[in-house]
Amino acid sequence: MKTIVRAAAGLVLACGLTALGADKKIVLIGGGPSHGPGDHEHRAGCMLLQRCLNQMPGVRAEVHQVWPDQFEAFDGAAAVFIFSDGGGGHPAIQEDRLEQLRRVMARGTGLGCMHYAVEVPKEKGGPEWLAWIGGYFETYWSVNPFWTADFKELPVHPITRGVKPFQLRDEWYYHMRFAEGMKGVTPILTAVPPESTRGKPGVNLPHGGNPHVQARKGMPEHLMWAFERPDGGRGFGCTGGHSHVEWGEENFRKVILNAILWSARIEVPEQGADCPVTPEILKENLDRKGRR
Ligand SMILES: [Zn+2]
Repeated sequence: MKTIVRAAAGLVLACGLTALGADKKIVLIGGGPSHGPGDHEHRAGCMLLQRCLNQMPGVRAEVHQVWPDQFEAFDGAAAVFIFSDGGGGHPAIQEDRLEQLRRVMARGTGLGCMHYAVEVPKEKGGPEWLAWIGGYFETYWSVNPFWTADFKELPVHPITRGVKPFQLRDEWYYHMRFAEGMKGVTPILTAVPPESTRGKPGVNLPHGGNPHVQARKGMPEHLMWAFERPDGGRGFGCTGGHSHVEWGEENFRKVILNAILWSARIEVPEQGADCPVTPEILKENLDRKGRR
């Protein structure tokens, strides 16, 4: 009898492990403090998203505050999300990490990048970001002003489920370098920037106005997009996310959570990923040391 009870207990344990093993794993990668308190809160942002994702059935999100030491951290990942510093300091372009990501992407793993993490050097990371997420911030081509984007209309796409038109002030980068002919790219958040953000003729800065941007006065710009790779993998980029308080905007939070789910090939709920946050939650896990 004892043997039977033990066997039954073992079966329950095995079933439990099987159920756990069926969860879709999402790897969220942040970075150390880079700006003043409240801005570029990579760790707190990733942890807030983790909290929300882990409330969803069948999802298991893991946060790495810095790039994982062990390549095995990517094992079984349905999607990777990077919210970190960018440019020459982008964690994904250090050491052999682009090669690591190349191996991960070859498995069909999704990739999402947010704010500064959409900026990679043209020579190192640019071709990879075009191939994996369909676009990136290219210096002397893209710009990074602060402005209030008014998202009046949203396309029909799983990522916009439950998202209503909204306005949000952010450091919305725009005029991204997108895949040739926008092949595989679906714009998700689009708005018309104020003319004052396009810079002045004759002033051409790496992150400021440039002739290409100035020539597009009054035209809409894509600030978030979804990408479907020819091999079936999915990616997305969002240029906003400078200030941590923005996670308090329900529609912004929802569109990012939806995008992470979509990139991981998880069915986005009909009303979108629902995850209320309180002012107290918004104060959790903040970097208090500021720039270092
Ligand atoms: Zn910023």
